[in-house]
Amino acid sequence: MEALIPVINKLQDVFNTVGADIIHLPQIVVVGTQSSGKSSVLESLVGRDILPRGTGVVTRRPLILQLVHIEPEDRKKTNEENGIDGEEWGKFLHTKNKIYTEFEAIRQEIEAETDRVSGSNKGISDEPIHLKIFSPHVVNLTLVDLPGITKVPVGDQPKDIEVQIRDLILKYISNPNSIILAVTAANTDMATSEALKVAREVDPDGRRTLAVVTKLDLMDAGTDAMDILMGRVIPVKLGIIGVVNRSQLDINQKKSVADAVRDEFAFLQKKYPSLSNRNGTKYLARTLNRLLMHHIRDCLPELKTRINVLAAQYQSLLNSYGEPVDDKSSTLLQLITKFAAEYCHTIEGTAKYIETTELCGGARICYIFHETFGRTLESVDALGGLTTIDVLTAIRNATGPRPALFVPEVSFELLVKRQVKRLEDPSLRCVELVHEEMQRIIQHCSTYSTQELLRFPKLHDAIVEVVTSLLRRRLPVTNEMVHNLVAIELAYINTKHPDFADACGLMNNNIEEQRRGRMKDLPSAVPRDKVESFPQPVPVSRKLSAREQRDCEVIERLIKSYFLIVRKNIQDSVPKAVMHFLVNHVKDCLQSELVGQLYKTTLLDELLTESEDMAQRRNETADMLKVTRSFLRASHRRTTGTEDNPNAPLSWVCVAVL
Ligand code: GDP
Ligand code: MG
Repeated sequence: MEALIPVINKLQDVFNTVGADIIHLPQIVVVGTQSSGKSSVLESLVGRDILPRGTGVVTRRPLILQLVHIEPEDRKKTNEENGIDGEEWGKFLHTKNKIYTEFEAIRQEIEAETDRVSGSNKGISDEPIHLKIFSPHVVNLTLVDLPGITKVPVGDQPKDIEVQIRDLILKYISNPNSIILAVTAANTDMATSEALKVAREVDPDGRRTLAVVTKLDLMDAGTDAMDILMGRVIPVKLGIIGVVNRSQLDINQKKSVADAVRDEFAFLQKKYPSLSNRNGTKYLARTLNRLLMHHIRDCLPELKTRINVLAAQYQSLLNSYGEPVDDKSSTLLQLITKFAAEYCHTIEGTAKYIETTELCGGARICYIFHETFGRTLESVDALGGLTTIDVLTAIRNATGPRPALFVPEVSFELLVKRQVKRLEDPSLRCVELVHEEMQRIIQHCSTYSTQELLRFPKLHDAIVEVVTSLLRRRLPVTNEMVHNLVAIELAYINTKHPDFADACGLMNNNIEEQRRGRMKDLPSAVPRDKVESFPQPVPVSRKLSAREQRDCEVIERLIKSYFLIVRKNIQDSVPKAVMHFLVNHVKDCLQSELVGQLYKTTLLDELLTESEDMAQRRNETADMLKVTRSFLRASHRRTTGTEDNPNAPLSWVCVAVL
């Protein structure tokens, strides 16, 4: 099996990393009657003395023998971790992590485990023993040793032992992905071979059945296996291969595998000179090798499709990781610039990545201005928090000791200022909300738009820090401006404002009315229901006189009118101020601020340190991409040029993976 090692191991190593299921090498299953030499055949293929062999019923449970190729590093690691010193070792499923470095101990464990489940009196069980052999000299291949076909129950065996074993064998060989080694001893009648009979049941066309004839050395004197080996007795499509395994005496005398192979070769040359190069353990191994290769070839079209998909996936994954950094300085500048641009784009609504699930960036700022802020302002009532008593008190205080003829203007100014001040808080809140949104955009940009940033967590953090502090610096300036906008309104109550003229007219009318009222001493011109619409409590001492009520109403109307003018101004000017002092300023300064703070030679290495697993992941992906690409190139060569070459499948598989 040595010839298979480099090819299949490389293939499987590659496929194991991309997903273990990509190629299933067939399991090799031995079938045959009891003591026909099944275990011996498997063992000589593996080249290790691990399987219990002998006369009578020895193999009494299926043995699933998984050969696992190991690389020197794995070997060193396992040796260190387990305090062992071995090139090859075995592990059983049922003994968990226990490591067997002696093959003798492995054989003993198989025997003990067989006895444990099947009893010590020839009982048979269908419960498999799982054994893994780790070695640098094996291919990743699974071999299955099975109890032999038997007819007559012995020992603890049940009456229907024949049926039970047959079912057990069928279970394994009916797997279409298995190669059946139908073992028949040369000193029995090939025409009645139970092994070939049972194999034919599941593989009638003989596509995956290979006949192995053992015990060539034990044939009666005067007979030979020529006819059998030539396929004249029973033809077998994939071939009939004769072998000579170690006899019981050889086993007892601990004859080595190498010696056995040498003696086998000598025997074949002597007895079957014309067939010696088409028989023997080595030829059997080569034939299996070829069958496995054919299997791989058959899998290729589908494999190619899957690898194509994988290659595309690796390519896009690799793209998402970005190129390794060669020129740090330009990479840094690029990333900073890209971030700054994305930040601005997100505000302007021209970003590549546009959210569809929720508002963000500029759209959210717009929403804050017009929905959140606008609505809040509109809900600020012109006369909110102002009681009739407050108004009355202000009027009285403004007239001083003399009773006034007219409503004093001072009281209007005093009261209207008090109301205008109430616009400041919602305005400052508007700044706060926009500031928060600007902060949120940082996150948005680094997650969606400038994904490369995720590769460099330190740069990411540094950028966030710079933008955050820029935003933080702009906050007091913007707040100050907004505060001033309200202060400006308070600084001068412009009663000559054109929109206020109507209200003034109303006031003058009122003064006129008052004058007439006093002259005629008539009751209030203000309708009764209007008066009652001031539910505020009046001083307990007395009710408001008609005049007082009228005065209050005049003042309140004036306040209302003037307040609406100011509110409109604020609603208009605060967003403008926020845009100028915060949003636009940050937008304009962002790039230079980032460059100024981060684009420094001393910071290059620090900022462009990749996240730990990123470099590794990129390398792994690049490797996989290379393997998949070379595979595809090789398979392309095959389909375009070497179709007529019968050896092409083998060679191009090698090309693809070596
Ligand atoms: P299994 O029951 O089919 O697994 O057969 P084993 O591999 O256990 O072999 C049964 C016996 O036959 C053992 O004693 C082997 O040493 C012996 N044996 C197997 N193959 C050969 C062979 O080719 N020549 C000789 N002389 N003995 C063999
Ligand atoms: Mg056996």
